[in-house]
Amino acid sequence: MKIGFIGLGNMGGPMAANLIKAGHAVTGFDLSKPALDALAKAGGKAAASAAAAVGEAELVLTMLPAGPQVRQVYTGEGGLLAAAAKGALLVDSSTIDVETARAVGKAAAAQGFDMLDAPVSGGVGGAAAGTLTFMVGGSEAGFARALPVLQAMGKTIVHAGPAGNGQAAKICNNMMLGISMIAVSEGFALAEKLGLDWQRLFDISSKSSGQCWAMTNYCPAPGPVPAAPSNRDYQAGFTADMMLKDLKLAQQAAQAAGATTPLGAEAAALFQMLVNGGLGPKDFSAIFRMIRGGGAR
Ligand code: NAD
Repeated sequence: MKIGFIGLGNMGGPMAANLIKAGHAVTGFDLSKPALDALAKAGGKAAASAAAAVGEAELVLTMLPAGPQVRQVYTGEGGLLAAAAKGALLVDSSTIDVETARAVGKAAAAQGFDMLDAPVSGGVGGAAAGTLTFMVGGSEAGFARALPVLQAMGKTIVHAGPAGNGQAAKICNNMMLGISMIAVSEGFALAEKLGLDWQRLFDISSKSSGQCWAMTNYCPAPGPVPAAPSNRDYQAGFTADMMLKDLKLAQQAAQAAGATTPLGAEAAALFQMLVNGGLGPKDFSAIFRMIRGGGAR
């Protein structure tokens, strides 16, 4: 398939490379020259603008930082809605607010385009390995058309419902993750104060009702899970900056929808504290350091 790919950063770069490996013809654009060079090196075609990248594309994929960039790239002057070929399927995989996702989807529909919001989880490692999880909002027909393309970049691809529901799934999931990472950090910090060894707590809790992904796959206390960032000085992984962004999106959505999310609000406040302490670029499990005491560092 002819694919136009806008946003070739940490995630978009390896995702585009996997599309090329699967035999798709990828033309891409990014504001960054090194990102464009990497696309050309992977076998894709570097375009001079977003509009030029999508003129002939049957499917357009975007992987941009946040809502304002997505809005601008699609609906701004010379944007994708003006430049994309008639009948092209539009897929935004950036993590953005539900409101922007639905507004851009509506603007796309008004121009006759089918558009999906398809945020991912799995991080840079999953993008490189082609094992991302895609949470897709939009029409059944659009989902069916996008599926074979998404399968070249991901392992689990779930249709979450109408436009915006992909973003909704992403922020609900990450809010639960942010809260559970704090819960596990509090448990392991308390254990230390009580003279209970982390490995022993892990051996017990990983088989008891306190068990959760944040503990068994990503333990924030060093030792019990060798592959976890806690054993590499909290090198990310998934940065605290990104977690804070998603927790803020969840709070924004909760306020707009009238949902009660007091622990989500507390998680956002604690991750803000971590980021303010200078640990934004570290893995989000570094929240353990702050909770354990001795400041963010
Ligand atoms: P990134 O900053 O590495 O990449 C974004 C790219 O978009 C950059 O290369 C930037 O130059 C480009 N860009 C910005 N504005 C542009 C414009 N107007 N036109 C063309 N290119 C433009 O970010 P990333 O880590 O690749 O993340 C992208 C999205 O994926 C974000 O929404 C993020 O929340 C989400 N995400 C990231 C991860 C992760 O672990 N990194 C995991 C899941 C989801």
